Amino acid sequence: MLADIAVECGKHESDGRMTTNTNTSDSIVASTWSNALAGPVGIPDKADVVIIGGGIVGVSTAWFLAKQGVDVVLCEKGHIAGEQSGRNWGWVRVQGRDTREIPMMLESLRIWEGLAEEIGEDVGFTRGGCFFTANSMKELQSFEKWVGIARDYEIETRLINKAELHERVHGSAADWSGAMLTESDGRAEPHKATPAIARAAERSGARILTGCAVRGVETTGGAVSAVVTEARSIKTSTVLCAAGAWSSMFCRSLGIDVPQLRVRGTVARTAPAAKVTDGNIFDERLGIRRREDGGYTVAHGSVLEHPVTPSSFRYFAKFLPALMQEFKIVRLSFGDEFIDEWNTPKTWDLDKPSPFEETRVLNPAPTQSVLNGIRRNIDTIFPGLANTPIVESWAGMIESSPDVVPIIDAIDRVRGLHVATGFSGHGFGIGPGAGKVIAGMLTGTDTGIDIADLRLNRFFDGSPIRPQSSI
Ligand SMILES: Cc1cc2nc3c(=O)[nH]c(=O)nc-3n(C[C@H](O)[C@H](O)[C@H](O)COP(=O)(O)OP(=O)(O)OC[C@H]3O[C@@H](n4cnc5c(N)ncnc54)[C@H](O)[C@@H]3O)c2cc1C
Repeated sequence: MLADIAVECGKHESDGRMTTNTNTSDSIVASTWSNALAGPVGIPDKADVVIIGGGIVGVSTAWFLAKQGVDVVLCEKGHIAGEQSGRNWGWVRVQGRDTREIPMMLESLRIWEGLAEEIGEDVGFTRGGCFFTANSMKELQSFEKWVGIARDYEIETRLINKAELHERVHGSAADWSGAMLTESDGRAEPHKATPAIARAAERSGARILTGCAVRGVETTGGAVSAVVTEARSIKTSTVLCAAGAWSSMFCRSLGIDVPQLRVRGTVARTAPAAKVTDGNIFDERLGIRRREDGGYTVAHGSVLEHPVTPSSFRYFAKFLPALMQEFKIVRLSFGDEFIDEWNTPKTWDLDKPSPFEETRVLNPAPTQSVLNGIRRNIDTIFPGLANTPIVESWAGMIESSPDVVPIIDAIDRVRGLHVATGFSGHGFGIGPGAGKVIAGMLTGTDTGIDIADLRLNRFFDGSPIRPQSSI
């Protein structure tokens, strides 16, 4: 299935608008979601497990299940990695994470390390280190708390001074006071990694169906009995909703409340240029990481846009702690998204096209003012890159849970239904580890990683909602 798609070219209507196959050197990233999309073929009539969503969480879970001999089908409405998993910065880091994610993230780093060899494909993974720079001594001292957390988990995170930072990061004109550094953190290439894991899952026996929206789930006696796709139903007793930015809408159609909001991130890629760093640098003005092709993936360090929708009001109270924490970086935007969500039905007949077929690929436009800011900040911080052109830009909708860590759980009200979503702005790096843990949840196998704190009910049982890390 994936191979079929790779060779198709030309115009199509994958996201409701005519788009052109742009698989050229100036659209390396966008080729993930803009190549031609064929409808699904060979849909089986039954499976042990059906996964909804072909992002890194869905494909990693499919891969681990298939390796254990589980008969698994993955349905993706658009392209593998067409949404968040193909549009992210590519950072694979444990540094700065919420403690609830750390064991899963450390497992993920172990998987990333051996991934290319195990699946026989390049995923662009390398450990170049992760730097959170400090623009004042006060900011540098504020990192000490996380250095202490790192010590508890035997992670070699340390604070480095100005001199060491400038030795390791070349050509910076920034007046940094130092940085927090985790040398074992790394990066991978999103446009390569998720499709490569999907192909590995296929080789292990998983069936990966693209252009195949799941409209809903059928139940018998309160338990899942089938998944209804746009093409046909698949009988199953076990479903995983790994639908990224669509999980809340999907679950709501089944009467299950999954609090989730979206923020838009604008990202750009430069042409190859001199090496200023081999790793990832996060500064309040710039997020930058070296790319495998010798360029840089760059983004503004402190601008995320939240398109206000009816869900913003619905979930306002639950997201208030996160909004207060992020109020300096989250800009509210008022556009078509409000009307679009308002007009989207909450439930639909399963024998008619669903909202998931209407928007095959959530493909927001990058914001020009943010791109201008990225350009300015590159030139200010790395004057040596001032003549390096930005050759591609795109945007992605990050979906967040109220405490910005994922929800991984079985849903009591519909036996056999599970959800893995809300990975917020850091689900790419943790994706392979999450896949292993979720596969364990679905098969009842103990992976040694406790996910009790990631239960959905934490947002409804009176537990305090306290984000420990940023979006
Ligand atoms: C701009 C940006 C920068 C980021 N930077 C980083 C980073 O540097 N490091 C990091 O770790 N993380 C980063 N992230 C976050 C990371 O990309 C996400 O957390 C992660 O990719 C989520 O993976 P997922 O599989 O849960 O969701 P997604 O990748 O969004 O996949 C969900 C899929 O489900 C499909 N789907 C939805 N509904 C249906 C349906 N009904 N039927 C069939 N298919 C359906 C969608 O089409 C989609 O492809 C970033 C995200 C963005 C947008």
